[in-house]
Amino acid sequence: MTHQDTDHGTAPALACADAGAALFHRIVAGAHDGIVVQDMDARIEWVNPACERLYGWTLADMHGRKPQEFVLPPEVRPTAEDIARFRYDPDSALFRRYQLGRHIRRDGSTFWNQQGFALIASGPDPRDRRVVITCRDVTDQVSTEMALRQVQVDLRHAAHHDDLTGLANRKRLAEHLDAPDIRAEIARGRLGVLVIDIDKFKDINDTLGHGAGDRTLAHVAHALARVAGPRDLACRTGGDEFLLVCALPDGAAALDARAGEVLCALGQPLMWRDQTIRIGASIGACAAGDGATTGEEMIQCADAALYDAKARGRGRMIHYTANLGRAQRARQTLARDLREAVSHDQFTIHLQPQLSLADGRICGCEALIRWNHPQRGLLAPAAFLDAADGLGLLADIDYRSMTMALDALRALDEAGYPDLTMSINVSAAILADVNYPGLLDWALQSRGLNPGRICIEVLETTILDGSGADVMSAVARLKRLGVRVALDDFGTGYAGLSHMASFEVDAIKLDRSMIARLEQDPRNRVIVRAIIRLCGLLRMSVVAEGVETEAQRAMLRRANCPVIQGYGLARPMPLDALIGWLRTRAAAPGPGPANTPTATARPVPAPGRAR
Ligand code: C2E
Ligand code: CA
Ligand code: CA
Repeated sequence: MTHQDTDHGTAPALACADAGAALFHRIVAGAHDGIVVQDMDARIEWVNPACERLYGWTLADMHGRKPQEFVLPPEVRPTAEDIARFRYDPDSALFRRYQLGRHIRRDGSTFWNQQGFALIASGPDPRDRRVVITCRDVTDQVSTEMALRQVQVDLRHAAHHDDLTGLANRKRLAEHLDAPDIRAEIARGRLGVLVIDIDKFKDINDTLGHGAGDRTLAHVAHALARVAGPRDLACRTGGDEFLLVCALPDGAAALDARAGEVLCALGQPLMWRDQTIRIGASIGACAAGDGATTGEEMIQCADAALYDAKARGRGRMIHYTANLGRAQRARQTLARDLREAVSHDQFTIHLQPQLSLADGRICGCEALIRWNHPQRGLLAPAAFLDAADGLGLLADIDYRSMTMALDALRALDEAGYPDLTMSINVSAAILADVNYPGLLDWALQSRGLNPGRICIEVLETTILDGSGADVMSAVARLKRLGVRVALDDFGTGYAGLSHMASFEVDAIKLDRSMIARLEQDPRNRVIVRAIIRLCGLLRMSVVAEGVETEAQRAMLRRANCPVIQGYGLARPMPLDALIGWLRTRAAAPGPGPANTPTATARPVPAPGRAR
């Protein structure tokens, strides 16, 4: 039986006797929303055609039944007894607001039904009461709303998590540490922070490619997620920086064990294509109470400990201590002072002369940077170059060093020493600057200096630094300018002789450590002699560094070493002092402890400007 077959006029509440009632009947019969009329026991007395279409059941199918029996999905359907017992309560909140529920159609499909319940009384007798329900399929709206909500959830997740690893990001970390329960844990000393740094991550990225780098980061994330307890938070805070906030309900001692687990999990090999990658990590640890009172302070302390862990050779976990804190504050002060030094130009150079052994003349000097620190006085490069490198200030410092060295060379010309050469130290940082050769060229030309008098000293280790190709091309460009290039600290890296052929340098500087062993170590003496001979064959010059004793000098002369430099000749000194030293030396009648009989750099009469 279909709706069309049903005489809707038989519904008692809608029995109509006049034209007004007929119109009313047509309105409810033609409405888009489903309309259901029930008695107070929820038995269906009448439904409109829209309702039949909505559910797929006809009025005849539904008449006399309670909807809970057949429109509710099984998982939310009340028991048969509950359905039988059900009666509308006229005071129920049901009559004051819309209800939203998932209902089943006759064909088993479901839809979201928005229902409005109205209580209607057709007379004073409570038995005359009816419940009129309007039904509307709002599946589309609900789906849209649910999709929107999911988008919101996704966006929130994206804002708080790292894309690549799915771990929490810095923002999420900050919120976590600021949450009242976490602050309370910090106050009770029940929280720890592990800052984790992947050893040699850059190497993996550079040599195996970004795919391998990403795979490595995912491996770390996975390891951290595995180690993290339910109340811990694993985060990726930067490129290869990870952090684990550890809940320590049993006290701070558990932090060490957790760090051990992290190191162990990270140490598992991972496969990339057909290669096995093994990574190590360094960990800095700080437990609440170790001198830190906020999450942020704990991270700073753990960072200080991490710095120490890396400095001690990686692959280890170091706990924060007050000493580490002091060291970190010293680094921070140094960083601040260095930035100031660069902007206020607090640098100067000292010059160390070089002696040509063949003719006993001073042939040149090396410019060595010094920092004139306003409180600490004159500082040697070892006190600040590494820090400057870390702060990205090294190229600035090299550039200053270069201009001061060229000014000094110009001043030496004017003082009557126009044949001296000037050696200038450069770092990988300035070699990486494509503008550097051009700047040097311009600086030389504007001072009227011959490029052949300049020797750029590149550390052997700089060439092996992974950025080798860049360094090579920078060196090639420098050589096109006509400046000479020397390999500094030769014998400390692993470049050794094999590199000399591929890398067209004009000179090597034999490292101080090799010179220091000359007297005691015969094998070393043989090696030094062989290197000098080989360089002669390759038409490369050799400067022996750190020559301190007369015996070393004599040995080097016998080995035909072209040039020496060292405290035995002179310490590095300011320009004025060097000019004075050169004059005294020329005037000296015979050999002093630092002089060879012929070691003179004769001042020539006051020069006209070179070129
Ligand atoms: P280096 O280029 O090997 O310079 C030689 C270092 O050995 C200088 O130390 C010098 O004072 C020291 N020295 C010279 N003769 C002797 C000796 O007979 N015995 C001993 N024990 N030491 C001697 P300094 O001036 O402290 O410079 C250290 C390093 O700093 C330099 O080593 C160089 O690598 C770097 N450096 C200096 N100036 C600059 C610069 O302007 N830029 C860059 N990037 N590095 C620089
Ligand atoms: Ca040098
Ligand atoms: Ca050196």
